[in-house]
Amino acid sequence: MSLMESISGVRGIVGSSLTPEVVVRYAQAFAEFCDKGPIVVGRDGRITGKILTNILVSTLLAKGCDVRAIGICPTPTVALETEHSDAAGGVIVTASHNPMEWNGLKFLNTDGIFLDAEENNVLRNHFTDNPVYAPWDSIGTHSSRPDAINKHIEAALGLKYIEVESIRKRKFKVVLDCVNASGGVIVPKLLERLGCEVIPIHCDVSGVFAHTPEPLPENLTELAGTVKNESADMGIAVDPDGDRLVLIDENGKPIGEEYSIATIVSFVLSHTEPSDLNRPVVVNLSTTRAVEDIAGRYGTPVIRTPVGEINVAKRMRRERALIGGEGSGGIIHPEVHYGRDAIVGIVILLQYLLEFGKPLSELRASLPDYSIKKDKIQIGNSDPDALLESIAETGDGSGTVTTDDGIRIDYPDYWVHFRKSNTEPIIRIIAEAPTAEEASTIVDRYKTAIIKVMNNTE
Ligand code: MG
Repeated sequence: MSLMESISGVRGIVGSSLTPEVVVRYAQAFAEFCDKGPIVVGRDGRITGKILTNILVSTLLAKGCDVRAIGICPTPTVALETEHSDAAGGVIVTASHNPMEWNGLKFLNTDGIFLDAEENNVLRNHFTDNPVYAPWDSIGTHSSRPDAINKHIEAALGLKYIEVESIRKRKFKVVLDCVNASGGVIVPKLLERLGCEVIPIHCDVSGVFAHTPEPLPENLTELAGTVKNESADMGIAVDPDGDRLVLIDENGKPIGEEYSIATIVSFVLSHTEPSDLNRPVVVNLSTTRAVEDIAGRYGTPVIRTPVGEINVAKRMRRERALIGGEGSGGIIHPEVHYGRDAIVGIVILLQYLLEFGKPLSELRASLPDYSIKKDKIQIGNSDPDALLESIAETGDGSGTVTTDDGIRIDYPDYWVHFRKSNTEPIIRIIAEAPTAEEASTIVDRYKTAIIKVMNNTE
């Protein structure tokens, strides 16, 4: 697998595509991007994270940047520390939900927000074969930021509707799966602060992932089983860098990653002053329609953006959104920070359950019911843009077509979204319908149609 360089940073397999040279190339460019200002650095706990972080930090220091090191922590912890300090930028050494052999770098600007397309271009324009380093007496200084974890917890608990003492009294019993990565340094602490009885599985921060790390139901069977066996109130899973949150109900049933954002939207809108309900909710084009249905109950508009955290975050800031995120378990609360944050999601969820007074399965049942199917089609050498164009023509013309990010077609009772990948010869296909069977049928139907177009044009 070659190096994946995209709007969300760089990722590769350590030792083959992601080499020390790649880290130095990006680090020296990022030091220039930050005009040699102070830089916050954290890592997600992977076993390769320490050496890559050492290379990153040494390069930044050699360039003359001061480094504020947090150590192992979630991506949103680095983002908050970057925003609320004098830092000129931040870097997280992480490959997010990718398996163990992967690692990478994510870059934040001085506001603690991911670089957008324009900023990424500026960063890459600083790539050079002849880097200039600081003189021996002007190298940067290195200091630790051990309080960043606590500050992150306090920021989430500081949301206006959170009643810490009441949550403590409820004594939720929670099974927690942090896949032995960065969630382990913060989520147990947060849950204990909230008086929960925590049953940790895979929270040792060894970086040895106990299962495929993406928080999808097929990877969370042990968590689901433990919730049931322990008669817990819920199961919580976070991805290795703590920006995606997925929940398991008290019966051991995954409520689906799409329902993390749907649940939080429901809570936030129900606690919003009527005069503010005209401010929008912002989600990406692949996120569940449950968000529109819930927002509709309050007359709140929903804005959809291209997929990608930075697209959602920037639009949220511009529109003064009430809440936003991505269907893959990413929750963005503007009053904490414009970035996906599982910690914020957990805090709001516990408050919601406290107020709701009934189990998580019933909370989920109170929300609109949809089933989403995510799949992909291998397209080989076919032109993805031509295929996407052909898709728009396959319908009967009654659907509403959106072309902001691939093609999304909305029908009264279902929608389907196609996106090409910039790194692999595939087209992603996502369909949502009232039942899982219907969603599968829709995906299969479109896959057959696309394969037919591919065969005809070969
Ligand atoms: Mg992640």
